[in-house]
Amino acid sequence: MKTKIVIIGNGFASLFFIGYLLSLPVFPVFAFFVRRIYSRYDITVIGNGQFIYFPAIPEFITGKKTKDGITLDIRPWLWRRNIHFIDDQVVDVQDGGRTVLTTQGRYTNDALFIGTGPAFRVDDIPGTGIHTFSPCGGPDDMNAFMQRLNTLQEGIIYVGFKLNKLDGFVAGRGGQMYECACLFDYALKEKGLRDKFEIHLFSPDIAPGETGAITDRLLERDIILDYGYEPAEFIDGGMRDVDGTFRKADLILFTPGIRAPDWVQQSCLPVSVGGHIAVDRFGCVQGLDKVFAAGDCSNHENPPPWVPHQAHMAQLRSQAAAKNMRAVLKGKEPTHTYRFELSCILNMENDAIWLHAANDDKPPFWNIFPRHSRKLITVKNLFERLYLFYLRYL
Ligand SMILES: Cc1cc2nc3c(=O)[nH]c(=O)nc-3n(C[C@H](O)[C@H](O)[C@H](O)COP(=O)(O)OP(=O)(O)OC[C@H]3O[C@@H](n4cnc5c(N)ncnc54)[C@H](O)[C@@H]3O)c2cc1C
Repeated sequence: MKTKIVIIGNGFASLFFIGYLLSLPVFPVFAFFVRRIYSRYDITVIGNGQFIYFPAIPEFITGKKTKDGITLDIRPWLWRRNIHFIDDQVVDVQDGGRTVLTTQGRYTNDALFIGTGPAFRVDDIPGTGIHTFSPCGGPDDMNAFMQRLNTLQEGIIYVGFKLNKLDGFVAGRGGQMYECACLFDYALKEKGLRDKFEIHLFSPDIAPGETGAITDRLLERDIILDYGYEPAEFIDGGMRDVDGTFRKADLILFTPGIRAPDWVQQSCLPVSVGGHIAVDRFGCVQGLDKVFAAGDCSNHENPPPWVPHQAHMAQLRSQAAAKNMRAVLKGKEPTHTYRFELSCILNMENDAIWLHAANDDKPPFWNIFPRHSRKLITVKNLFERLYLFYLRYL
């Protein structure tokens, strides 16, 4: 009897998980036949079938990336691996993880992996999502923002983020919002409109007066720093401050902190103080047998305070979770942990910096790349092309 594995979600965490779970992840023709003749696992993925390469969304601002270019149908990739696909939304997990309920069906499993990605704390600041746009809302939300921006010849743009730090790490999207602010500066200069626009960067999570490489890049671009600022409410035409003052904003790009999706909160899955699926350092969901989670939906055990949710972290976590699932399915204890690493190239179009921190102080890619150079944009694009090529053809 094959072991039945159910995987929720078809984003970064789930695809990395599959890649590390299967013993022949990158020899497609060979693997295609081998997995049909012999396979220990009967794998089912439940999701929407669309993979979105989120890191490219800020580049909608310069027009270099589009929805079609960064969205792909993941079903052929799954088919090549002999993985069943269910086009549906999970609404609940029951029986200690053994049963997954979707809007249309019920799926049992011997082992479960959860990679449903994030939900955003939109209730944190009233008016979020009604009077704000976000690159984290996906390509359509970012396109809607760009359409509005393209109708303006002058104005005030606020770019901001709020983090969820309740679980001891950075559950939010700071780096992406810095990137968006710098790309607005570039795109508006290209159009000869920069002096007609004010660009503000706000976040209640950055201390006023904060210095550093990112702040220097923002100041170089005359971006107004509203560090420490949190609006009481987003309203039509701007924001209302705590003291009731109205702040005009023609457009607001804002990303709230991250937690696990709503359905998780009512399921049998344990939830952390910050609202994530509670996992241990092996990626095992706490208190449940053969249930694993990774990526933006889950927290960390003893994280360093600087670690963010990233595709890159999802990869490291999914790798450990896949190895541990293989171990527990053989009756062994989970032993594989993962490194904590922040690694991200901040693309400003006319410049780029590599933001990096690691709990073991290892540099990115043996330090072969510069930390501050426009050439890093080529490197970032190369990672994207390679990953999308892998998903499209291998
Ligand atoms: C604008 C932007 C820029 C970014 N830039 C970078 C970067 O430069 N570098 C980096 O490392 N990271 C970056 N990130 C972060 C990175 O994209 C996320 O950390 C990563 O996508 C998390 O992977 P995930 O699998 O947890 O979630 P996702 O990739 O969001 O995947 C979640 C999956 O679950 C599915 N799903 C959701 N709910 C359900 C449900 N109920 N039932 C079934 N399926 C469901 C979704 O359809 C999706 O397939 C960026 C993110 C954004 C938004």
